[in-house]
Amino acid sequence: MLKKYLSLRWVLLGTAIVTILGLTAMNVFSLFRLHQTTIESDLENKKLQVSEFTDKVHHRFFNPYWGIDKLDMDHTQRVFEQTGQFPPAFQRHIEQAAADSIFTDIYFKPHGCRACQNETSLLRFDQLDRKFKPTTEYSEFVCDGMGIARTRMKVLIDEYRFNYKSIFDTHYSMTLALINLSEQEIFGYLTMLIDQDYLVNEYLHKELVRRFGNPDSSGVVVWLRDWTKDETVISSDHARTFDEDKVQYKQRFPDFFDNWTLKVAFTESPTIAASKASLFKNFAVLGGAVVILLGAIGFIFVTAQKERALAERQAGFLANVTHELKTPLAVMQAAGENLADGRVDNKERLQSYGRHIHSEALRLKRMIEKLLDVAKADAGQSIIEPKPVDLNRLVQRYLDNHEPYINNKGFTLDISMDESLPPVMVDEDSFNTIIGNLVENAIKYSEDEKYIGIQLQKKHTQVRLEIEDHGVGIPRSAIKHIFEKFYRVEDSLTAQSKGHGLGLSIVKNLVELNGGTIQVDSVKGNGSTFIVEFPILVDPGNNGNGTTDEQSQQHINQQDKPQYVG
Ligand code: ADP
Repeated sequence: MLKKYLSLRWVLLGTAIVTILGLTAMNVFSLFRLHQTTIESDLENKKLQVSEFTDKVHHRFFNPYWGIDKLDMDHTQRVFEQTGQFPPAFQRHIEQAAADSIFTDIYFKPHGCRACQNETSLLRFDQLDRKFKPTTEYSEFVCDGMGIARTRMKVLIDEYRFNYKSIFDTHYSMTLALINLSEQEIFGYLTMLIDQDYLVNEYLHKELVRRFGNPDSSGVVVWLRDWTKDETVISSDHARTFDEDKVQYKQRFPDFFDNWTLKVAFTESPTIAASKASLFKNFAVLGGAVVILLGAIGFIFVTAQKERALAERQAGFLANVTHELKTPLAVMQAAGENLADGRVDNKERLQSYGRHIHSEALRLKRMIEKLLDVAKADAGQSIIEPKPVDLNRLVQRYLDNHEPYINNKGFTLDISMDESLPPVMVDEDSFNTIIGNLVENAIKYSEDEKYIGIQLQKKHTQVRLEIEDHGVGIPRSAIKHIFEKFYRVEDSLTAQSKGHGLGLSIVKNLVELNGGTIQVDSVKGNGSTFIVEFPILVDPGNNGNGTTDEQSQQHINQQDKPQYVG
């Protein structure tokens, strides 16, 4: 049954760990995906911004012409044919275009005019007189613009539904083909020459820097490249020279500025930096949580294992204890029966029976006392009556009672006591149990070298009792367990010796109840030294003995005896 639970426990532990690791992996994956999605949407967003930029540039050229799509071109054409000028509604747009720094001159070629083909005159808008006047001086850019527009419109005109169409000749000119929708014919071409210097240096450059100038916040560097000449016209950040390898995205101007391309390099934008930082924080928190969780599970598991080991030891102890109690009883019973029957009349045998019964009764008594001590400590009912005592006296009394016994066991006693020890607050019975158990262990766990050293001396603010033996010693891994209830080192000597792993737990409990500490210094095969220390009692009026006020107060309080401590 127990084995079944044990394997179930392992299965549950495994499942818990696998679940936690699985969930963590899923979380890491989702966080990573989220980060990837953020990067992707950030890239999309940057591309959108570049395309918004080209759209805005396109719209910039139509600033003066907003609303001409609503004008009646049939009427405009008629007025022009009658007066040689445009009606006021159209004239307003021309004047606005003439005032716009992005355009230099404005030319108009009415339908049927053969200018550009045989050097006939063309109409040019005169800003002072605010009129179109004929001129024979016009650059070939004007003719190029009008020519390109004418070619385009030939293909388009049949299906075209708007009253004008704009056509760019790269970045040199913009031509508006004016369309009389009722006749479905073009009645003239209005060509605006573009001011190159203004376009590049005043408008495009400023706009590019305004939008993308700081790569730390925009996350992009944009170069405007003339691909016909393979040169950079302008860039959003002068500090970064053009490098084709860094270009991750290209964008053409939609249907205008044919020989220009925007080339874009992406840098880390604040969104990505924030996402990265958050990813890192999330990983850190997740990692921490997993470590804590696994630690907690491990802790619970280890404690459960310890409890199980304790339960097993307790069960073993119960079986043992029953046996131990029965053995002396059986011996006494048999001896008692023999005596009662009058079968033993020889004086020596009578004495031997008496000794037997006496020693078995003592064994039984010791056993029962130990059990009671443990039970009391467990129930929190240990009664101690601390009094100011001179430990010299208590050790001496113990030795007076036990020295013959120790010597009989073949041990050499090496005693060293500081005769002028200050008093300590200790319960006498507790002390007897403490020293008794420690000496008993020293005897039990010694083999060939039968030596017991007892030292009593003052150490700073403590009185220290050291009990040393040259016995089997304690393995390093067992040292932290020996004060636990029912714990016994697993070696052959321990197995041979009688005991239940209770002595040291009782000793520790009593030492601590009396305000002291206990530690052990031992090397396997090289003997052990148990060190018990009690704080020196200080006269409340005389605080000059190295003891603190706090300690004095503690001792005064302890004098209200008896104390029930647990
Ligand atoms: P018990 O002696 O009844 O087993 P204790 O609680 O007194 O129980 O001791 C616990 C264990 O510590 C012992 O089983 C023994 O293995 C080890 N031990 C205690 N004292 C000594 C010592 N002086 N030398 C070596 N091992 C010791």
